[in-house]
Amino acid sequence: MRPAPRDDVVAMEGYHSPQVDVDVRLNTNESPLGPPASFVAELTDAIAGVEWHRYPDRAARDLRAAIGSLHGRGHEQVFAANGSNEVLQSLCLAYGGPGRRAVTFEPTYALHGHIARVTGTEVVSAPRRDDFTLDLDVVRRTLESAQPTLTFLCSPNNPTGLVEPQEVVETVVEVATSLGSLVVVDEAYGQFAPWSAASLLDEELPLVVTRTYSKTWAMAAARLGYALAPTWVVDELEKVVLPYHLDAVTQLAGTLAVGHLAEMEARVAQLVEERGRLVAELAQLPVTVWPSGANFVLFRPDARAGDEVWKLLVERSVLVRNCASWPGLDDCLRVTIGTRDEDDAFLAALREILT
Ligand code: PMP
Repeated sequence: MRPAPRDDVVAMEGYHSPQVDVDVRLNTNESPLGPPASFVAELTDAIAGVEWHRYPDRAARDLRAAIGSLHGRGHEQVFAANGSNEVLQSLCLAYGGPGRRAVTFEPTYALHGHIARVTGTEVVSAPRRDDFTLDLDVVRRTLESAQPTLTFLCSPNNPTGLVEPQEVVETVVEVATSLGSLVVVDEAYGQFAPWSAASLLDEELPLVVTRTYSKTWAMAAARLGYALAPTWVVDELEKVVLPYHLDAVTQLAGTLAVGHLAEMEARVAQLVEERGRLVAELAQLPVTVWPSGANFVLFRPDARAGDEVWKLLVERSVLVRNCASWPGLDDCLRVTIGTRDEDDAFLAALREILT
């Protein structure tokens, strides 16, 4: 007889983002360029010194200190893990779990709800307004009735691209503080946005900001993300994560990358400029485009089904994200900002399909 998994796991759907072999991949919000050659050379040299027979530094001190230096914080206010998804999982393990609730505001990053459920946390989802902004009355009512231990925000929000205004985050934190809920602001795309909730961090506030090396640092292959948090949160996260979870090479890569901040920032500036061009070009086509503070743009063809346009783009070897599975995003597609050439290929294909 086959052992039965948990009933709630049987009922779950896994993470679906097709990996299709195409010429132009603009579906997972990666950096279109690899990291700087000087970084890769430095890392390659450093790998020669790895003591392969020893476990890596369990506390990842150098890495956490390097990340802390980026944000003017000590290593004890930084938690690092295998991608920000593992950071989110650790937060759910420490603050969620059976009998506890997490709140999300939809549409948002699907993994917030999914990871919470995997850890046995009940998920309460409330809607955003039609323009994807948060209604603070809805936020207040939802938190008061759900009494969550975790409240997720995402800024810029995936997949809408919307940046939460500072006053909104401050109000959510204020309400959450009064209810004893930890607010997690997922800033996977934070460097593309005009402001960061990291500026609000305080040892006395139940606020955590998560970041990743997967996007701006052009290191999705390394799987490295982190949380900036009060020390009392970091201490709990360290308890639930597996010992030696972060391997020595990932730790080295993350530490050395920090020495290449200027190149990273120059790439971000380039992508932000390219985002402006892409949005302007999309505005010339029969689509609705939403403003974005991230490295992707959400759009909806005015007169064609999203599914159909997605397939026709794949036929032209261009892969974007089909947002049909997100509540409220029927017919929407999300395109990652690529190189100028990739974006031109996408625009040419879309123009051919829609005009
Ligand atoms: N948060 C958001 C909002 C994301 O879009 C992603 C990646 N798609 C992640 C977290 C996870 O990133 P990673 O695990 O690669 O750090």
